[in-house]
Amino acid sequence: MIDKKAPQSLLGMTPGEVEALIKEMGEPGFRAKQVVEWTFARRVADIEAMTNLPKALRERLKERLVTRTMSVATVSGSADTTRKFLLKLHDGRYVETVLIPANPALYGGKSDRRTLCVSSQVGCAYDCKFCASGLAGFTRNLTAAEIVEQIVQVEAHTGERVDNLVFMGMGEPLANFSNLIQAIEILNAEWGIGIGARHMTVSTSGLAPQIHKLADFPLQIRLAISLHGASDPVRDQIMPVNRKYPLAELFGALEAWNAKRKQFLTFEFILIEDVNDSLDQARMLAKRARSVNAKVNLIPYNTVDGLPWKRPSEQRQEAFLAVLTSAGVTATLRREKGHDIAAACGQLRLKQETSEGIIESPIPEKRITIGGGN
Ligand code: SAH
Repeated sequence: MIDKKAPQSLLGMTPGEVEALIKEMGEPGFRAKQVVEWTFARRVADIEAMTNLPKALRERLKERLVTRTMSVATVSGSADTTRKFLLKLHDGRYVETVLIPANPALYGGKSDRRTLCVSSQVGCAYDCKFCASGLAGFTRNLTAAEIVEQIVQVEAHTGERVDNLVFMGMGEPLANFSNLIQAIEILNAEWGIGIGARHMTVSTSGLAPQIHKLADFPLQIRLAISLHGASDPVRDQIMPVNRKYPLAELFGALEAWNAKRKQFLTFEFILIEDVNDSLDQARMLAKRARSVNAKVNLIPYNTVDGLPWKRPSEQRQEAFLAVLTSAGVTATLRREKGHDIAAACGQLRLKQETSEGIIESPIPEKRITIGGGN
């Protein structure tokens, strides 16, 4: 496999790391502060633009570092709905980033906030049966810089600030743990992007050991669990990760999380017709949500080309919601029309990479045999 080494980007480096590099180059430490300011506060797209650095130093920095590694390939959607950015990476692969305007139903935000849904990996190894991201398998982790640059690219393109971040794009963030943590620190820092930790939500398919680890991370980020099944048999069918970390283990991790953290947990629950939308599942979900004091976001399934799953009727969605609400669980149901919402992340990239011949068109037949596989 060809592994084109990523150019090292300043967007993934802390001031301490920049300083170490500057000193290693035999330059005075104060240059590091200037470099960090140009990188984050002024967001220069090129080291050449760092005009208070001597020309010779700029040249030397350019030999080792860059400030951009990706470009906006396409933008779809409009300013008052969601805008999907397909970003082309240095190695020709693609990731998606979705900007979602005012939406009172979104995690911890007020209704005038702009939320960006970012990717953490190219592809995904977790093979959830309903999800487009994993259809072509896992390619690679994003670097911390590539995670951070998604925000930088979108803000530059739109001229708008992002107030909320959700790690709900392509990939499993907790499977890219150290890069995720480095990116969150940079995104949160005053010298960096400056987004409050409480305005960042990491979403996971349920990697119990990493949830334990994340519970000790000092920043008060939020955690969302992609539950999608309230019992092991239902979850096993659609999320192979459940066979590795069954619900008992996952909930053990969530209890540990709650013991250490102040923020409420969120459960995401995609409603898929005849798979997890029974009222029995709703009752079990209510019990589970209460057990760890979690809010529930119900998301009607977005159909994916090549996959057979469907969203249930609106009456059925409302009935499911009613069971939760009457059990005293805080729950919301996304009622947007159409399928153009953040949760469908992964589909654009799949089309692009398939059309360019980077990946083979996935064979859905292999993936929809529920209960099969490893
Ligand atoms: N791997 C992480 C983050 C990426 S997925 C996780 O599993 O949480 C972000 C959310 O989108 C998850 O809840 C995922 O289950 C959901 N999702 C994936 N495909 C979807 C689809 N077709 N319709 C609706 N939601 C989907």
